[in-house]
Amino acid sequence: MMFKRAEGVELQIPRAAVGAIFDECDRYDVDETGGRILGTYKGGDRRLGITVSGVIEPGPNAQRSQTYFKQDGEYQESVFRRVEDHVPEIEHLGNWHTHHVNGLRHLSGGDIETYFRTVNRPTHNTDFFYALLVTERVPGKSGLQRYIFKNYLMRRNDDNVYEIPASAVTLVDAPLVWPASEESVPRKVKTRSAEAVPTMDLVHDQDVVSQFFPKVKMLKSAELGIYWRGTLRTADGADLEVVVLRDSDAPHGCAVTLRNAPDVLEPVTKALAKEVFPNARSALVAAERACNAQLLATATSAKKKRGRLWMF
Ligand SMILES: [Zn+2]
Repeated sequence: MMFKRAEGVELQIPRAAVGAIFDECDRYDVDETGGRILGTYKGGDRRLGITVSGVIEPGPNAQRSQTYFKQDGEYQESVFRRVEDHVPEIEHLGNWHTHHVNGLRHLSGGDIETYFRTVNRPTHNTDFFYALLVTERVPGKSGLQRYIFKNYLMRRNDDNVYEIPASAVTLVDAPLVWPASEESVPRKVKTRSAEAVPTMDLVHDQDVVSQFFPKVKMLKSAELGIYWRGTLRTADGADLEVVVLRDSDAPHGCAVTLRNAPDVLEPVTKALAKEVFPNARSALVAAERACNAQLLATATSAKKKRGRLWMF
């Protein structure tokens, strides 16, 4: 893979963010590690100014080996929501990870594949994905000189991987929105994010929903909190309207409602109304299966009365 030089891109990174990343590299000097990068941006295609303002750590359930690293998405999502409560303009700019443990001095094919998939997802908020890669530890150096890192950019609908030249990167002295210091973030952020950690399954849930129910979108409103709305296709080829509401309190149970369903699906609508599911994907799968079983039963058993064919 050839890396193209990114033109017209300016990147600002607070020294505190680089410090937080290097500290994390020190903690895992055998296995790959990484995290999410938060910040804001200006411009778009021709000129793009990226300003980093935070780094979310990998989280308590991250998985690591020398060549593999998977972040704890639930934890990171909960931190992101807390930061967003206080800094509404914050964006998830991209990810950072390290290769200083495996000697690969650039992004791997797997990294690139993953980032392309992410940036081209319809639900991805920005038209780019920024990746910071720590490439090596510098023997005998300390402070912000102890590691070398590279900066990459992927763009939506673009097969190139761009490397941001060192001349376009400026280190600045600016406070971070995360990791939080005691002074910079209200106390409730710390206590609430700790509580939210074990129950937040949102990132993974949305991944599965968008893959298997592409016409169901995740939405957010002040009144309802997070919910999903859209259509799923039943076995008879009809598009059925569904809404999944997610309880705002842990353990975030999900309820699914069929809207404007045909009369034949009335038993399913009623039965679903009594159920609570652990997440949106299981609510949608249950609704789809129950509808299909009911449609099939109705079509094939005009004569004999059959019992309930589906269960949740
Ligand atoms: Zn990698």
